[in-house]
Amino acid sequence: MSEVKGRFAPTPSGNMHVGNSFCYLLAWLSAKQQGGRIVLRMEDADLPRMRKSAVLQTLSDLEWLGLEWDEGPGPQQDGGLYYQSCRTEIYDRFFASLREKGTVYPCFCSRKDILLAAAPHAEDCTPVYPGTCWNLSSEKAVQRMKTQKPAWRLHLEPETITIHDRLFGRLSWDVQAECGDFPIRRTDGIYCYQFTTALDDVLMHISEVVRSNDLLASTPWQIYIQHLFGYQEPDYIHIPMLLDESGQRMAKRSVSLSICEIRKHYTPKEVLGRLAFLANLQSDWSPCTLEQLLSVFSWDRLPKQNIVIPKALFAKCQRETSQ
Ligand code: GLU
Repeated sequence: MSEVKGRFAPTPSGNMHVGNSFCYLLAWLSAKQQGGRIVLRMEDADLPRMRKSAVLQTLSDLEWLGLEWDEGPGPQQDGGLYYQSCRTEIYDRFFASLREKGTVYPCFCSRKDILLAAAPHAEDCTPVYPGTCWNLSSEKAVQRMKTQKPAWRLHLEPETITIHDRLFGRLSWDVQAECGDFPIRRTDGIYCYQFTTALDDVLMHISEVVRSNDLLASTPWQIYIQHLFGYQEPDYIHIPMLLDESGQRMAKRSVSLSICEIRKHYTPKEVLGRLAFLANLQSDWSPCTLEQLLSVFSWDRLPKQNIVIPKALFAKCQRETSQ
C-alpha cells in the first residue's frame, strides 16, 4: 500500500481560527497514526485578497501547536512550490489543454443572470448553471470577448461520482444534473479554488483530504477535474464544523477565537486538550500532548454533527469581533 499523505490547506486571507486548527489537528493525527506525511500548502491563488501577515501568523500558529509538516514552506525546502500564487504556470498548462479539447468555454453571465435563469439546487440553493454560454456560437463568443472579459467555465459530460467518506459514508452525484458546469478561471484571470485545489491535491500526491463539511459540495467538481486529467481522487473525510455558542460558523474576522488570540491565554497543551474534547477524543478538556492524542485518535469517536463550542471552553478570550 502506498504512503498516506494528508495536507493542511489554509487560505491566508486572515488568521487561523480554532475551527481551522481543529481541522489541521485531525488531518495530522489521521496521517501520523497511519505512519504518513503532511503537506502544508498555502491556498493563496487569489493573491489580492491575501495578507502576508496571515501567512506568517499561520506558520507560527501551526508550529506553536506542534503541528509540523513534512513538506511545505520552510528554509530547507523549495517553499515557493507550496504557495498556489507561485504555481500559475502549472495551472496555465492544464487550462491550455482544456481549451485545446474545447471542454472549457468563455462565460459572460453575471451571478444575477445565473440566479435568474437557473433552478436552485435543491439542497444548498447553489444554482446549477443553465448552460447559457455553452450554447453561444463560437462566432458570438469571439465577438463578445472584444468588449467583455469572460470567466472560463468547465463543461461537464455525464458522470456519476461516488465517494466513501469516512464520516458521511457513501455519497453519489450525477454531476450534470446536480452540479453543473462551473467556473475554473475568473474574469480577472485568477484560477478558481475548485481548479487549483483539485489539481494540487493530485499533483502533490495527497491520499487523504480532511476538511470541513461545508466543502462537501465542492468535492464532485474537484474529483471531476482529477478524473478529466486521468488521476485517481484522494480519500475524503468531511469533518463537522465548529460553531460558536450562538450556532454561527467561525469566520476569519472573528478575532476572539483566532489562534493568535488564544495563544495569549492558553498553552499549546491546553488548546490541544480543548480541541480533543470537541473531537470526543477525551471526556474533559484537560491539557494533553499530541503523543497522547495519537494513541486515542479514531475517526469512529468523532461526532457526526456540527459542534458548538461551549462558551466556558475559551472563557479567557474576549468574544469581540473585528469590523
Ligand atoms: N483553503 C480552504 C480553506 O482554508 C480549504 C480548502 C480545502 O481543504 O479543500 O478553507
